[in-house]
Amino acid sequence: MVRQAKVYDVCIVGSGAGGGMAAYALTEAGADVVVLEAGGPWDNAKDSAMLTWPYESPRRGKSTKERPFGEFDACIGGWEIPGEPYTRAPGTDFSWWRARMVGGRTNHWGRISLRFGPYDFKRKSRDGLGDDWPISYDDVAPYYDKIDRLIGLFGSNESLPNEPNGVFLPPPRPRCHELLVKQAADRLRVTCIPARLSILTRPLNGRAACHYCGQCNRGCRVNANFTSTNVLIAPALATGKLTLLTNAMAREVLMDASGRATGVAYVDKATGADRRVRAKVVVLAASALETARLLLNSKSSRFPNGLANSSGTVGKYITDTTGTDVGGFIPKMTDHVPHNHDGVGGMHLYMPWWLDNAKLDFPRGYHIEVWGGPHQPSYDVLGGIQGYPSGGGYGKQLKDDYRRYYGATIGFSGRGEMIPNDDTYCEIDAHTVDRWGIPVLQFHWKWTDHEYKQVKHMQETFRALIAEMGGQAFSPMPTAEQGYGIAAGGVIIHELGGARMGDDPKTSVTNRWCQTHDCKNLFVSDGGPFVSQADKNPTWTILALSMRTSDYITDQMKKGAL
Ligand SMILES: Cc1cc2nc3c(=O)[nH]c(=O)nc-3n(C[C@H](O)[C@H](O)[C@H](O)COP(=O)(O)OP(=O)(O)OC[C@H]3O[C@@H](n4cnc5c(N)ncnc54)[C@H](O)[C@@H]3O)c2cc1C
Ligand code: SF4
Repeated sequence: MVRQAKVYDVCIVGSGAGGGMAAYALTEAGADVVVLEAGGPWDNAKDSAMLTWPYESPRRGKSTKERPFGEFDACIGGWEIPGEPYTRAPGTDFSWWRARMVGGRTNHWGRISLRFGPYDFKRKSRDGLGDDWPISYDDVAPYYDKIDRLIGLFGSNESLPNEPNGVFLPPPRPRCHELLVKQAADRLRVTCIPARLSILTRPLNGRAACHYCGQCNRGCRVNANFTSTNVLIAPALATGKLTLLTNAMAREVLMDASGRATGVAYVDKATGADRRVRAKVVVLAASALETARLLLNSKSSRFPNGLANSSGTVGKYITDTTGTDVGGFIPKMTDHVPHNHDGVGGMHLYMPWWLDNAKLDFPRGYHIEVWGGPHQPSYDVLGGIQGYPSGGGYGKQLKDDYRRYYGATIGFSGRGEMIPNDDTYCEIDAHTVDRWGIPVLQFHWKWTDHEYKQVKHMQETFRALIAEMGGQAFSPMPTAEQGYGIAAGGVIIHELGGARMGDDPKTSVTNRWCQTHDCKNLFVSDGGPFVSQADKNPTWTILALSMRTSDYITDQMKKGAL
């Protein structure tokens, strides 16, 4: 075991959204920081295939094992990572998507950047389900404002009750298919507003504005969209205060006899050697579920059930966003006049939750994401063409159909709020270890009627929107036996919880500052401390909370309290 003599101020595990923000804020405040990152380096400014044509590769962009979203995708990781298994309890349908690279999942993410609203922090007070957060929107709002200004996002201030305004850059105009969606949504009284994505429509803080190539998922060579790598880690490195150790797989948090964290033990993946890094403060930001795993694996005589787990709630209250999709053929969009369809690599419009639960048979809500139109074709363009009216065939007819139907698809994805339940949690699988001998997680997952009813409503709404555009859905309405088409747990890749915050140490893992109740110099800066999911994508809140926690660490270190 190689032990480093140096004692850093802070050791952060993970360099994704949460870890990157902690590294940025803490180095800016003058702390001497080390980041342990399980993946290798990858730089979107140099390594991205942003402008590669599909025909430049024999695979035409088709996915590889380490790039499940396509050969040109920026993110290295996937549902299954060789040598790093996880297991599912009998009856559990759950998939876990993990990134293994500097910047984590921010290399690919859809960049939909939504603040949680005032209601989202106090849901139990409103409908009696789940739990309230110990903090409110007002506690996080100043940090949302700061990250809006630092990272940048486009959007529009609409002054909706639970969709807070922000510091937005101007949004791009809707494209042709999005104008059709907007018209249909207006007629059906579904709120439809400009999307909120962390993509620069104006230069900001030395970064260029987007030139609308539409390839955000491949990584942006001009840094016009947000990645932790180039917006947070790069400036942190430039301070000279950050040591970034890549291919460093954290095994456990190290403790002394008094119950303080003293550093982190990790595996140097290049050599397989066990190493240790020492620090006065440890921040876990390995992604919500991986952080739960690290805590549960950090056992000692003082913490026999895992670190920070005196409440028994590490790995509990985990959630993912609910989701289902419907795509449809829109005849109005066939044989269209070629027109400029350039835009960002994501939607220009979206539909926040717009209904009153008092009139519905399910609690909470969902937002709607829009896709479709004539994007750059790739290897699977118009796969399933036989599903279009008279589509398919051979030779000339097939080619003509491809031209006619290209871009005539519009689809909707619902992204909604799951309420934590007692049957959904993760724990250490006593019988399985990864390639380094580290015990792995086993998942237990159950949706309840709340989620099934919500997803049924999504399906009905999307079908109504497609019909309103004069189109026809590609698939029939899924039945109750098919769970109304609900995506399996984990599949929407918004896992949260497992180290939830609260004022009561008996029912929560961290306090309102994401500091563990049981160990004063140990913090969690990813989605672990989330108390509830909200109908919003979580990353803007992970970033805001990580910045807030970093400010608290800086303040406490100055006072000598850590
Ligand atoms: C396809 C896709 C689309 C998405 N779209 C959106 C979206 O539009 N909006 C949104 O808000 N969110 C979206 N997300 C989710 C978003 O990416 C995550 O919420 C966010 O990245 C979480 O940040 P994190 O820091 O917790 O984890 P990550 O970004 O995953 O970073 C964790 C890092 O920790 C490292 N790590 C893990 N274990 C260890 C260990 N033991 N030792 C050392 N390092 C370790 C990993 O290698 C990784 O780099 C999307 C995700 C994906 C994959
Ligand atoms: S669409 Fe804009 S932000 Fe996305 S990769 Fe292209 S230039 Fe970059």
